[in-house]
Amino acid sequence: MNALAPLLGLATLAVPASRLIFAPDIAERLRKLPATPIDYDRSLLDERETAALRELITASRPVSEIFLRQASTKNPELRDRLEAEVRDKAPGAPDALALFRIQAGPWDRIDRNVPFIGKDPKPPGAGFYPPEMTKAEFAAWIERHPGDRKAFEGLFTVIRRNASGLSAISYSREYRALLDSIIPRLRKAAETTGNASLRTYLTELSTALLDDDYYDSDLAWMDLDSEIEFILGPYEVYEDALFNYKAAFTAFVTVRDKAESAKLAVYAKHLPEMERNLPIPDEHKNFDRKFESPIRVVQEVFTAGDTRAGVQTSAFNLPNDERVRQAKGSKKVLLKNVMEAKYRVAGKPIAERFLDPAQLSSVTFDAFFNHTLFHELAHGLGPGFIKGPDGQKVEARLLLKDRYSTIEECKADVVGMWILLQAIDNGWITSVDETTLAVTVSAFFFRSIRFGADEAHGGGTAVQWNWFREKEAVVPAEDGRFRVAVPKFREAVRSLARELLMIEATGDLPRAERLLSTYMKSTPEMEAVNARLKDIPVDIAPVYVAAGEKGPMR
Ligand code: ZN
Repeated sequence: MNALAPLLGLATLAVPASRLIFAPDIAERLRKLPATPIDYDRSLLDERETAALRELITASRPVSEIFLRQASTKNPELRDRLEAEVRDKAPGAPDALALFRIQAGPWDRIDRNVPFIGKDPKPPGAGFYPPEMTKAEFAAWIERHPGDRKAFEGLFTVIRRNASGLSAISYSREYRALLDSIIPRLRKAAETTGNASLRTYLTELSTALLDDDYYDSDLAWMDLDSEIEFILGPYEVYEDALFNYKAAFTAFVTVRDKAESAKLAVYAKHLPEMERNLPIPDEHKNFDRKFESPIRVVQEVFTAGDTRAGVQTSAFNLPNDERVRQAKGSKKVLLKNVMEAKYRVAGKPIAERFLDPAQLSSVTFDAFFNHTLFHELAHGLGPGFIKGPDGQKVEARLLLKDRYSTIEECKADVVGMWILLQAIDNGWITSVDETTLAVTVSAFFFRSIRFGADEAHGGGTAVQWNWFREKEAVVPAEDGRFRVAVPKFREAVRSLARELLMIEATGDLPRAERLLSTYMKSTPEMEAVNARLKDIPVDIAPVYVAAGEKGPMR
């Protein structure tokens, strides 16, 4: 009998498994991401589309299970242990499980992937490669097996170790059981919807998931013209920090916001006028650009997988496949209700600590939301192809090298302010005025600066803060607070927009370096503001009401 015990799994009964080790500050980590209900306006869909939407929520749930495995192959087993400890009433286990669900694993995504369960660091290759595999081993394998290169570097394979070495396994094989629970629901939703373009996308997607080829479904997604805006599949490659080769599964179930979409159509019509109004010489303006990439404003209903882990997405731009982008451009989707929740939980409280109280009434969600929207429009304005050093046509991106993304994000922020001022002047927009715009954007700089002025996201914002301080568009007020000097705002925006646009128009890397080394830095004044913001939530943990959730990931 004894000899059989291990085979029957009885050994684990005799020796109690050792308890998991939890970080002492898990409750504090949870407070940085408060559970926040996310819901949509039910009047936006009729009964038939509501039924299709329900199918899509169900179809999307297993996407979180796939992503959990992509983040770490050990995650499912660790979750089982956590759930067992919760049942055994182990101290700290419920909080550890809650944070595990929010972070899709035992590492804190909003704090440099610090482990909060156990001590093991996160493998850079996440669950896409054998945890102990190095870059050198991967490269050596391809060297010896050149025929494996395509599969090994592919977006839609995982690398596993077997008796004879490494092998690539397609997603459709690796995650087959979970895909088998997604596909029938997608087909059911396709039968249910009355929208032909949604039916086409869902049908193409059902095939793509089994073929590991998303070209046709991406094209169909670009053609999607439906009240339901939905996307599911493997897209972003950031989870693969080893090589950025492998795409992580994600799903967004959203509904188009009709009122905002109508306003957006008006702004889009004025894009050529906005280009003409840029504060740079005419020779650098770009009228060749086709203003084709659509923007959608939607209300989020449910998300799963990559996008749900850690910080919540407030806007996305897909697909990433360059072939699809060449053929049809890309689509930007802005998640208005998510932005509203972030504004309320993690944005407005910053303004309340930072601003002269007399100006607090000028901080509005409309100004915040429209600045984000105009940031997206601004990405499509300004120099594209420019004249390179040898007179050839070249993209500014290539000349500005690793500085380009900071410059371009900063440009989108500042040119976004500039064209929003133009929209206000011309009465294209009435829900925002110069004062609410100036005060709101200035009060929200610290939303990103608080995570570090030298980091990619906070960096571009630090440039704006330091520029505005120098131009005295923002000035110190009583007890460590600040006041926005509204009359100086427009000129501060104009001068910085001009600098950023000229850097892109000339592809002048030393000029970019100069701007960033002067303004992309933290000052004692900024550190003092950051210190006041410590306990304000960093982001939200969504609770999807329409999916019947009562708490995060439940
Ligand atoms: Zn951007």
